[in-house]
Amino acid sequence: SAPDGDALDFAKGDGLLPAIVQDAATLRVLMLGYMDRAAFDETLRRGEVTFFSRSKQRLWTKGEASGHVLELVSMQTDCDADTLLVLATPRGPTCHLQRPSCFPEAPAGTLAQLDALIASRERERPDGSYTTRLFDGGIRRIAQKVGEEGVETALAALVQTDGELLGESADLLYHLIVLLRARGLSLADAERVLAARGG
Ligand code: AMP
Ligand code: ZN
Ligand code: ZN
Ligand code: ZN
Repeated sequence: SAPDGDALDFAKGDGLLPAIVQDAATLRVLMLGYMDRAAFDETLRRGEVTFFSRSKQRLWTKGEASGHVLELVSMQTDCDADTLLVLATPRGPTCHLQRPSCFPEAPAGTLAQLDALIASRERERPDGSYTTRLFDGGIRRIAQKVGEEGVETALAALVQTDGELLGESADLLYHLIVLLRARGLSLADAERVLAARGG
């Protein structure tokens, strides 16, 4: 979804509106840029976030040289139509310093961070890591762990303390993310299914 370009208040900012870009999966703030009407239209036309670059003084599709484009998911405007909020899927690090976000400390949700950490464990398989051992053990073992933690969580809900239930829930979430990753999927993929259901 996107706002109607004619409804945007470009006059307010001398033709440029600030556009906040968030990762659609993690909601982490990735960067801030400026869009004029042409950049807004080009973003919709290409499906890749395009700004008016104040340093280059021209339309700039983020990633045009690096390939690290921001695939458009949705745009919305604020209450008085002078700021844009863009949700996008980054294809590579957004910052030219090769960081995921231009804001090094920009927060992401705990589960999204765990999802990213588990993905890096799968790639790098560091020695001594429990997650490495799980991946090395194969998907059958991981699936079995998810089953066990699911049963433990269900039992804890019936006969154990809140603390024990929360602990089992955390175990289940962690092992579920590992299982998804072992199938080449991520928690973000499951979240998209939830979002599509309107949840
Ligand atoms: P790119 O758009 O990723 O192909 O990068 C092209 C040029 O745009 C880089 O050399 C930087 O000068 C600049 N640049 C890239 N990413 C950013 C960013 N997130 N914020 C500001 N400038 C950027
Ligand atoms: Zn405003
Ligand atoms: Zn940057
Ligand atoms: Zn457990």
